Amino acid sequence: MARCPECNKFVSFGEEPSVEIEGYDYDDGVVNIQVNVILECEECGRELKEATLEYEEEHQCEFCSDDEFDSKFIDITKVEGKSGYMRLDDHNGKRKSPIKFFGCSFTINLFCRKCNQKSIIEGQIDAEPKDFEEC
Ligand SMILES: [Zn+2]
Ligand SMILES: [Zn+2]
Repeated sequence: MARCPECNKFVSFGEEPSVEIEGYDYDDGVVNIQVNVILECEECGRELKEATLEYEEEHQCEFCSDDEFDSKFIDITKVEGKSGYMRLDDHNGKRKSPIKFFGCSFTINLFCRKCNQKSIIEGQIDAEPKDFEEC
C-alpha cells in the first residue's frame, strides 16, 4: 500500500510493475543485469515507487565452456514485470506469513563468440516493497 498523490488515497500497486533493462555486462564468468522496476498505482497508473534490481549468475558456454562472453553478444528478451507472494522461513525454521513481492522475469540469450552456439538463461528477480523508493 502507498499513498497516491493523484488519487489522494491509499492504493495497491498494480500486479504487473513496469520494467526496463538498465544495463548488462559479462565479466569474469558472471553475467550481470540491472533492471529498473516501477510500481504503479493500481487505480490510475501513476508511478509510485521504483528500484533498480540486480541479477547475477555465473555462466560458461554450455557447448565449449568458454567464459569470455562479450556484452555485445548478449540479448535480453521476454522482459516482464510480475508480482506474487513468497514465504520466507525465519532463522528458527518457522514459517512466516507470506509476503508480497514485486519483480520481473527475463530470458538472457548469450551467443558464444568461439563456437557460435546460443546459451539461454531464464532469470527472475524478486524484491519486497520495502526495497523500493518513492519516485
Ligand atoms: Zn492513483
Ligand atoms: Zn562456446
